[in-house]
Formats: sequence, structure tokens, C-alpha cells
Amino acid sequence: MTIRVGHLYPDYLNIYADRGNIAVLARRAALRGHELVVQAIGLGDPLSPGAHDLLYVGGGQDREQAAIASDLAARGDEIAAAVDGGAALLAVCGGYQLLGRGYRGRDGSFMPGVGLFAHETVAGETRMIGDVLLECELEPGNVRLLAGFENHAGRTLLDPGAEALGRVVHGFGNDGESGFEGCRLGRALGTYLHGPLLPRNPWLADWLLAQALAHAGDEAPAALTPLPDDLETEAFRVAADRARARGGRR
Ligand code: GLN
Repeated sequence: MTIRVGHLYPDYLNIYADRGNIAVLARRAALRGHELVVQAIGLGDPLSPGAHDLLYVGGGQDREQAAIASDLAARGDEIAAAVDGGAALLAVCGGYQLLGRGYRGRDGSFMPGVGLFAHETVAGETRMIGDVLLECELEPGNVRLLAGFENHAGRTLLDPGAEALGRVVHGFGNDGESGFEGCRLGRALGTYLHGPLLPRNPWLADWLLAQALAHAGDEAPAALTPLPDDLETEAFRVAADRARARGGRR
């Protein structure tokens, strides 16, 4: 099958090897006989709900975020319709912040957000930097570990009832206090984890691919063929061990 990916603002939100996440999706799709077609969506480019099986928004510092925030916020209806219609979405760091209601940066200015995720973000005095380990339960009863790296000044507060992507085992997470990391709304995920995220967490790459395939029309997709993943498992182990050495919660 063809999996249509819309990559929002690759020229602005790209600081954490975000293209690496797309490369992993493309390779893991190809190894199962599927083709990933990636369309860059820049400032002012049209975005029609239903045109993509997966939307991707990468990370950026305050300056890059400010450059695209109002263009992105104006796409609130289209993005909500896409996710409502079953498209998958992954937003990382700066992109994750702007998919909520908004982000108040270090200089006090407010950047409006898309309003897809029920959260708000305010920059704090210090940056939260380091390796992170999470426990995620995207399907009830199936708890899996996710390892990554975080580097953000923003503190993201989820509204009561909003679902987090995971529970922080080690690291800061959304705000350093709640014990939650990221946000999930159906097939849409937002997270501070980068590094990039997907090379060392192949189960999450496959979860996203499966969601995108379901949207592409394969509503009862055959399980994705397992891949050897020796290097990926090793990369996960190194990142998870660094997070454990860091300590923190738990
Ligand atoms: N500028 C935001 C922050 O520092 C996001 C940074 C990022 O994408 N790493 O909170």
C-alpha cells in the first residue's frame, strides 16, 4: 500500500533529527512492501483532511516556532478533521507544544496553538535536559517502554482527563512534576522525546505505521512482519540505561 505522509514545516521544525523519524518509517514500511510518500507542507501550503495517512510535526526552538505558529494554528480545523477521520499524527517537542492551545515563550510572547491536544505550555527558567524512560500503554494491558532524549524549557500542563503518552520512569516529562509525558488523542501522539525517537523505539514506529495503514484503507491490516531489530534493540538499551543512570522519578 501507499502511505501518504504530510510533513509540516520541515524547513523550520527539524532540529532533532526529525528527518530520521521519517526515514525509519519509510524503511520499515518498505521492508513490508509498502511505500511511504512524503509531502512537505510549508507556510501557506494547502492541507486537506483525508489527504494524508500520517501527519508529522518536528521540533524547533522558540524562534522557529514563532515563524510558523500562526500558520499552523490556522490549520486547527483541518488537523482536527484529519485526526477525527483516523489519520495518525506524531508531533515532537516544539511541534508537540504548538498542537496544544499555545505556548508562552521565554520572552513572554504567546504563540497560539492548534488546540488539538488539551494542554498549554509555558516556558520556565531552566531547561529540562536528559535521557528519558517512559512506560506507555497504547493498548490496554500492553505496557511498553519508550526511550528518548528531552531538551525543553516549556512546561506542558495537560487538562484534567487528557491522556498522556506515557508515565515517566526516569526524566522530567511534560513539566517535571506531574509524572506524565506527552499526550495522546486517538491515533495522534505528541511527545518531548527526540534524538530521534523512532530508530530506538521500533515498536512505536510500527504502531504508527499500523495506524497509518488502517487509515489508508487496510482496516484489518495483517500484522506487520517482525523485523530483526538487533541494532534498534541495542540502541534502545543504551538510551534506557542512560536514563536509568540519570535516576529521577522512581
Ligand atoms: N522551544 C521549546 C522549548 O524550549 C521547544 C524546544 C524544542 O523543540 N526542543 O520548550
